[in-house]
Amino acid sequence: MLEAASDAAARFEGMFLTPKQANALLAEPRFNIYDNPEAFLTCNNDPAKALCHPDRTSPGGSRDRPPAIDRCDPACGNIARTDSHIQSLQAEITQLTEEIASSLTPIPLRGRLSACRRHLQGIADRHQKTRIARSDTGNEVDRR
Ligand code: SF4
Repeated sequence: MLEAASDAAARFEGMFLTPKQANALLAEPRFNIYDNPEAFLTCNNDPAKALCHPDRTSPGGSRDRPPAIDRCDPACGNIARTDSHIQSLQAEITQLTEEIASSLTPIPLRGRLSACRRHLQGIADRHQKTRIARSDTGNEVDRR
C-alpha cells in the first residue's frame, strides 16, 4: 500500500487529469483501496486474492467486482492496517474492557466480549511486530 501511494504521488501529485488519465488511474489495480473502519483495516483489493468472493478462481468468477467488505475475511491477504486503524482498535479494546468490568454486564456476555477483546489485542500485537515505517509519509502500515 505504501509503495502504491508513493508511486501515485510521483505520477499524479499536483496534476489535473484528463478523463482518459482518470479512467486509467481508476483501472490501476494497485490503487483500488477501500477503507473499512468498522473492521479497522484498509482493503487493497486484488480480486485474485479476495477471500470475500469464494468463486474468485472459478472460470466464470468475475474479477471486476469490488470487495464485499461486509463479508471481509480476517485471513485475506488484501488487508492492510495503519497506525490510525490501530488507534481506533485500541479505543475499542478500552471500551470492551470497561464493559467486561461492569457489574451490569451479564456473565455470558462478558465471555463473548473477552473473546472479542483477545481477538482485537492479537491484531494490535501483530501490527506492532510487523509494521513498516516510511519516513516520507509518517505513517506506518502492516500487511495484515
Ligand atoms: S476479504 Fe476483506 S480484505 Fe479481502 S478482498 Fe474482501 S473485503 Fe478486501
